[in-house]
Amino acid sequence: MAHTRFHGLDQASNHKPVEFVNPFNKSSEYYGSHVFNKKSMQEYMPKDSFDLVRRAIDQGEKINLTNADQVAVAMKTWAIALGATHYTHWFQPLTGSTAEKHDGFFEPTSDGFAVEKFNGSMLVQAEPDASSFPNGGIRNTFEARGYTAWDPTSPAFVFGTTLCIPTVFVAYTGEALDNKVPLLRALQSIDDAATSVAQYFDKNISKVNATLGWEQEYFLVDESLFMARPDLVMTGRTLVGHAPAKGQQMDDHYFGSIPERVISYMREIEFECHKMGIPVKTRHNEVAPGQFEFAPVFEEANVAVDHNSLFMDVLEKVARRHSFRVLFHEKPFSTVNGSGKHNNWSLSSNTGVNLLAPGSTPKRNLLFLTFFINTIKAVNEQADLIRAAIASASNDHRLGANEAPPAIISVFIGSQLSRVLDELEKLEKGKLSPEKKSDLKLNVVGKIPEILLDNTDRNRTSPFAFTGNKFELRAVGSTANCAVSMTVLNMIVADQLVQFKKQVDGLIESGLKKEDAIFNILREYIKTSKDIRFEGDGYSSGWAEIAKNRGLKNTPDTPRALDFYLTESSINLFEKTGVLTKVELEARYDILQEEYFKNIQIESRALGDIVKNHIVPVAIRYQSILSENVNRLKKVLPDDVYPRVSKEQIEMIVEISERVSLALSNVSKMTEARKVANKIDDIRDKSIAYCDNVKPYFNKIRRSVDQLELLVDNEMWPLPKYREMLYIR
Ligand code: ADP
Ligand code: MG
Repeated sequence: MAHTRFHGLDQASNHKPVEFVNPFNKSSEYYGSHVFNKKSMQEYMPKDSFDLVRRAIDQGEKINLTNADQVAVAMKTWAIALGATHYTHWFQPLTGSTAEKHDGFFEPTSDGFAVEKFNGSMLVQAEPDASSFPNGGIRNTFEARGYTAWDPTSPAFVFGTTLCIPTVFVAYTGEALDNKVPLLRALQSIDDAATSVAQYFDKNISKVNATLGWEQEYFLVDESLFMARPDLVMTGRTLVGHAPAKGQQMDDHYFGSIPERVISYMREIEFECHKMGIPVKTRHNEVAPGQFEFAPVFEEANVAVDHNSLFMDVLEKVARRHSFRVLFHEKPFSTVNGSGKHNNWSLSSNTGVNLLAPGSTPKRNLLFLTFFINTIKAVNEQADLIRAAIASASNDHRLGANEAPPAIISVFIGSQLSRVLDELEKLEKGKLSPEKKSDLKLNVVGKIPEILLDNTDRNRTSPFAFTGNKFELRAVGSTANCAVSMTVLNMIVADQLVQFKKQVDGLIESGLKKEDAIFNILREYIKTSKDIRFEGDGYSSGWAEIAKNRGLKNTPDTPRALDFYLTESSINLFEKTGVLTKVELEARYDILQEEYFKNIQIESRALGDIVKNHIVPVAIRYQSILSENVNRLKKVLPDDVYPRVSKEQIEMIVEISERVSLALSNVSKMTEARKVANKIDDIRDKSIAYCDNVKPYFNKIRRSVDQLELLVDNEMWPLPKYREMLYIR
């Protein structure tokens, strides 16, 4: 036993950094070399078909099969030149990760030779054996098959020796089976809605893109230690493990110097990412020891979402070469800060304007305020949906744990903008006097500074914070696919903008000037969406109290948060915006509930096994050593000495016995609770049973085990300890 443990540790400490040598001097020499972007298209395609594809990308025009053939030939030639031997339709099923099935270009001919084949229909559509992807019953109800279809708005890329073609995944009956379809629909709806509102201010705006800049946090653990932790292998987090003497209390990891072994890894990540056009730019240590972050330059949301999924894949694959394992789990180590994935979001017009950035003229700032206030209103009304969109078993550990935003959704805007909104709120109803209007323009709207990026006006405890020229959704889990929260956010803002347009047009029809109408509606919105605004400390217990009084929901667990998807108003909203039909939404709900209880089920089984097969046997063995020792002492020591020197050891024996018996009895009770839950058919009830009746045993059991860790001989302890895993040498 001791051997296993030290074997792992020896390996860990022997790991020399795997040197990564970048053959280039500058990223610009290879950036995007493995992306089938406009540059490579132009090089490999006749001009007319290149133009067609460009229009498909920029304006959503359809591509016919002849044209697709030309694209396919170009793509194949390009990819083979980069060493690709296979192609895959790369998609994002509802499991949260990405899926790919590789097919070779190679095709034998009847005369014994072979050709490399890839045509338009292979590019445009494929039929993966999809029966094993979660579908929430859709394919049982409708049709047994699903297919993947090319998404020309996200460029194909070569990863390793495979040409990857971003695709959507749908059932033959048309229902979405992936994360991309609803995202694309939501992005279409925000484009339409935001464009028509933006035209109040600038007729040249004909397209609005949602933009996303994600920040991905993750932990690195030495591979040999990872392999020695069955909980990490099976669940992605440690189910037991005592806090190390030194954790993050010294605050010395954040922005500290990055270990050489990690730097080498990061450099290779950057190299791989830049080849594939993922614009990762910043890298640093995070708050916890062993925790790091990468963030790219923001991009159009669909591409950014694909890039995040691909990035996570790259992180894992490259980690193996450096004998690391990546932990994406939101809470891999208790007592140590967990990981999130901040989603920085904004809207950008074809005229190059960031609609959520203040400008230098009152007119520009009225446009800014319009989008800014509509976003706040949308979140005020649909906070529940945002809560649902960030829900997962693993993110439950983080939300409300005073290291990440609480499970209460609120909006932070900073003191400068709070003052602006307070001023606007004071406006009188109806037509504004010319004096009032010019005063407003001069002293309120005109006074919004162009640069709001003031670091003193930041609030890291808010789940949805305005950060000067974008909103930052900070409550997204580090394991999540950004598509889910981006779908909801863009959808609710789109719907809000449609309502806004309708109301403003109504006032204009009734005789108000456009600007007056806009001011009137905005003032109304400021009034009605005050409850969601919170500038204070989101981690404080006082906030939970205030929020409660304001009627804001605090939903701490996933099974109940998911219920928000299926309220009548949510279903209406999803249907009205065309993002998901009721059937699709219900299917997703089932999948997510199932994913939840399966997660808890796996954790519960893993924990039971660890206690019974790893911890208890070792504790008992150590306890017998102690007992034997005490017996011997009794034999050899004089009667008056023995009681005095054996007292502590006997107490230890008692303590070990108590911990062991408590751990075992809680494991039995947990197993019973699992058996009861497993008999439940209704998927929601089952999920709730796992949440309310199984999960509560985790911490109880853990407490006994963690105390045993402090009692049992270090050499015998069968699992790598926190202090060993968290510090990368
Ligand atoms: P921080 O918030 O850490 O101080 P920045 O403000 O520079 O740093 O940006 C953080 C993230 O926000 C980056 O990933 C960046 O790409 C993203 N970001 C910046 N501007 C936008 C935007 N207009 N839309 C979406 N994301 C953006
Ligand atoms: Mg940030």
